[in-house]
Amino acid sequence: MVQGKVFLVGAGPGDPKLITVRGMELLQQADVIVYDRLASPKLLDYAREGAECIYCGKQADHHSLPQPEINRVIVEKALKGKMVVRLKGGDPFVFGRGGEEAEACIAAGLSYEVVPGITSGIAAPAYAGIPVTHRDYSSSVTFVTGHKAFGKESDIDWERLSSAVDTLVFYMGVGNLPDIVKHLRQHGRAKETPVALVRWGTCENQETLTGTLETIVEQVQQARFQAPAIIIVGEVVRLREQLAWYEQRLPHVVIA
Ligand code: SAH
Repeated sequence: MVQGKVFLVGAGPGDPKLITVRGMELLQQADVIVYDRLASPKLLDYAREGAECIYCGKQADHHSLPQPEINRVIVEKALKGKMVVRLKGGDPFVFGRGGEEAEACIAAGLSYEVVPGITSGIAAPAYAGIPVTHRDYSSSVTFVTGHKAFGKESDIDWERLSSAVDTLVFYMGVGNLPDIVKHLRQHGRAKETPVALVRWGTCENQETLTGTLETIVEQVQQARFQAPAIIIVGEVVRLREQLAWYEQRLPHVVIA
């Protein structure tokens, strides 16, 4: 029997056009597509007729399909000889548990490939006019999970993050924003440090909120700003004032 194969494909940050050409080609060929909440459903339009599309989306406090179950579905389908595309929001290996899915493939003796995607931690700031590095303002950037920012048990090295890294980009951090801000302040980041939140980055309903470590928690509460959002902390946020383009873009001009 022919053995199937698994492709861990990055869907890009939101706008369906931001998938890679390779990712799109694989979607067109797949027998089975296992997709996430954060992968644009419009991408399923590429699926060929008869392809099986399985939703395993997760919400912040509600797992529709637990991770072991997702791994099991992927492996089972591939062992039946199917070409499986595991379509994941952003990049599969950036806070996407793609590593665990790859491990499950290896454990089952399946071959797999990874197709990187544009991660929301770069794309959402870019669409808000915030370059995560800049020659004059930031020579380093770190991606951090906001999920583990909670309370004293946080296993994040706040000391080093606060002092040694210029730009901090938090994923899954909206719910824990007060903790994130507290940790950064306690470890010496100035209260004037600019902060931005970008919600549904690169999507039509993208929203951005900017403030400082001193003001942002209250602003987020007042605006009832919700996940999914990327939080950017650092001087580069100031550039948005000049570089914001998404809100001001003109209709696309086609040059023949
Ligand atoms: N693998 C994904 C990240 C998955 S973790 C990637 O590379 O982008 C899920 C978190 O990603 C969300 O809680 C949010 O912080 C962030 N995220 C994903 N898509 C987003 C978007 N379009 N706009 C803002 N944040 C997004």
